Amino acid sequence: MKTTLRTDLTVGDICTGFEYDSAEGKGLYGWGGKLTIQPEYQRHYLYAEQGGGRERAVVDSIMRGYPIGLLYFNQLGDKFEVLDGQQRITSLGRFTKDLFAVDDAQGNPQYFGSMPAAEREQFLKTPLTIYTCEGIESEIKAWYRTINIKGLELKQQEIDNAIYSGPFVTAAKKIFSNSTSPKLNLWRNFVKGNVKRQDFLREVLEWIVKSKDNKAVETYMSQHRWDATADDLEAYFEAVIAWACATFPDMREEMCGLEWGRLYETYHTKTYDVAKLAAEADELFAEDDDIIKDKRGIYEYLLSDKTLTKLLHIRYFSEAVKRTTYDKQTQEAKAEGKSNCPLCASGKDSNAKKIWERKDMDADHVTAWSKGGSTTAANCQVLCKFHNRLKGNI
Ligand SMILES: [Zn+2]
Repeated sequence: MKTTLRTDLTVGDICTGFEYDSAEGKGLYGWGGKLTIQPEYQRHYLYAEQGGGRERAVVDSIMRGYPIGLLYFNQLGDKFEVLDGQQRITSLGRFTKDLFAVDDAQGNPQYFGSMPAAEREQFLKTPLTIYTCEGIESEIKAWYRTINIKGLELKQQEIDNAIYSGPFVTAAKKIFSNSTSPKLNLWRNFVKGNVKRQDFLREVLEWIVKSKDNKAVETYMSQHRWDATADDLEAYFEAVIAWACATFPDMREEMCGLEWGRLYETYHTKTYDVAKLAAEADELFAEDDDIIKDKRGIYEYLLSDKTLTKLLHIRYFSEAVKRTTYDKQTQEAKAEGKSNCPLCASGKDSNAKKIWERKDMDADHVTAWSKGGSTTAANCQVLCKFHNRLKGNI
C-alpha cells in the first residue's frame, strides 16, 4: 500500500463543488467531484446534531488557525473517497454553502456568505493535512480499522474535550476528572461511571445544561470555552450534591446514577421533614422486591409527596382503586343480572348470579403484575376471594 502526505490542498479545494444531501443527511461530493465524502460504510453526518456545536467548532478552529487534525483519503484511480474526516469535511462544506452560521466576535450569527471577502478568502485558502493511500481493498480496510480504533474507543466527552480544548476544559477536568480528589468518595454515591473516562464531567455538564436552556453540552462547552475557571459548574454540582445529601442522608446504592440534577431542579425549593423522609424510605426499602419492583423509584416517589406511585411499580392496589372498581363492576353486574365476580358469572353453579359484598372480594391485576401489568385502575378487577386465590395459584 502506498501512502502520501499532502499539504497542498486547501479548504477551498476540498469544498469546491461540495454537495450535501439533506434528505439522507450526508455530505456527497467535494474537490470538484473527485472526492466521495461519505461512502456507504461511513456513518451519517452527526456534527449538526445536538444543536450543531461540533460543526461550528470545526469552522471556528479553521478561523482561529487551529489544526482540525489529519484527514485520510483512499485513492481509486483518479478519484478519492474519505476514509476518515467526513464529519469535518462535511462541516466545512455545509458552512461554505450557508447551511449554518457561526457566532461572530459580538456573538451574532454569521453566515459564510455574509463574511467580508477578505475573511472568506482567508478561510478558503487554509491548508489541510491529508494522507492519501492507494492499495487493495483488504489493505485499505485494515488501515481504516487502525485509524478508527481511537474513534471507537473515545467517549463523546473525551472527543468534546478535544474539540473545545481550552482553559475551561482544563479547569473542569481538574475538578471532575481527578481520580485523586478527596470529594470522589462522596460523589460516587450519586454518579456512576469512570472518572478518568470523563463520565463525571459529562454528568455534571448534562445536569447544568438541563437546568438552563437545555441546549447541547457542546453548545455550553463552546460558550464557556475561554472561561478561565469552571467555578459555575463546580458550584452547581456541589449545590445538587449538598441538597441530595441533606434530603437523604442515608447513602444507599440505589441512589447512584439517578438524575439528581433533574430531581434538584424539580424539588429543591420544597421543604421536607428529613426525619420523616428517612423513616418512610427505610420502610419502603425494607419491602420485599416482590412488592416494590423498582426501589430506585423510591426517591422521587417520596420527593413527589407520594404522588408518583407508578415509579415504584407497587404490587398492591389502593383501597380507593379497589372501591371504585368494585362499585363499577357491581353496578354493571346488577344491570346484566349476573355475579359481580366475572369468574363466578361465567360458571354454571348457584354463584353465577351472586352479588358479593366488597369485603368478600379482592383486587386483581387483569394483566399479571409479574408480567409487567400495572397497578392502576385500568388494570384492576375485583374477584371473589375464592377465585382470586385460585387465579393466584395458577
Ligand atoms: Zn368468583
